[in-house]
Amino acid sequence: MSEQDLLFRKTLLYKSEVEYADYGLNHVEGCSHGCTYPCYAMMLKKRCGRIGGYQDWIKPRIVSNALELLDKEIPRLKHKIDYVFMCFSTDPFMYKNEEIEKLSLQILARLNQNDVKVVLISKGIYPAKLADHDLYRNNEYGSTIVSLAESFRRHYEPFAAPIQERIEALKKLHLAGCRTWVSMEPYPTPNIKEQNIDAILDEISFVDKIVFGKWNYSKHANSYREYTDFYESEAEKVISFCERNGIDYHIKNGTILSRTKPKNDSTQLALVS
Ligand code: SF4
Repeated sequence: MSEQDLLFRKTLLYKSEVEYADYGLNHVEGCSHGCTYPCYAMMLKKRCGRIGGYQDWIKPRIVSNALELLDKEIPRLKHKIDYVFMCFSTDPFMYKNEEIEKLSLQILARLNQNDVKVVLISKGIYPAKLADHDLYRNNEYGSTIVSLAESFRRHYEPFAAPIQERIEALKKLHLAGCRTWVSMEPYPTPNIKEQNIDAILDEISFVDKIVFGKWNYSKHANSYREYTDFYESEAEKVISFCERNGIDYHIKNGTILSRTKPKNDSTQLALVS
């Protein structure tokens, strides 16, 4: 990463306003995964003039004073923090990006050494180190899995990790005793991807929690004739699968229009990118 790619910020940890979230941090601007759903974080950055467009977005820039900021902020905030979410507007383990992986691990270690739990979401591969060290055991590790089809991944998550590799990495963390979860958001309507949700649920049945949400910001999805019924029916399948298998779940607001409050809303995860 060249000098001109470096960013400096005044603060890092912030109180989140996202549904059911606590604190968040984004130590990188941009994301090389380049999702074309489109990515909400990219749209926001573009709207406020932080990036020119997609080509800027997929060239991530590290916040180079992230660790210094964290060292100042942790003592002041750690007693107020329930957990830190990594990350709402970037991905902490961008596929095959060693520099970002190294910084993310340093940040994770700093927070965990101060007994601050972290809830993560990534479309990359969690490093094996996370499963091997007790320091990282109390975090919650999530992956976005909205399809099992690599053809879907190549089109909508073009530079993210292959889907089976994500699932395998998550399973390793589960087997090491860590809490794991999957975000099934943005879940595609059949005119975007015809698929069987039961097959996806079976693949991820080892996780502790599933978050389900609809496909947003796309005329294509909105134009699907049975949009409302489709999400109602798929969400009911998620709920019934989770209840049968003792998995926590959260249905994102607005996914089931006839239901405003999910039956089981006991855990604290929220979602993301
Ligand atoms: S992984 Fe998340 S942050 Fe990165 S491009 Fe995709 S949606 Fe955006």
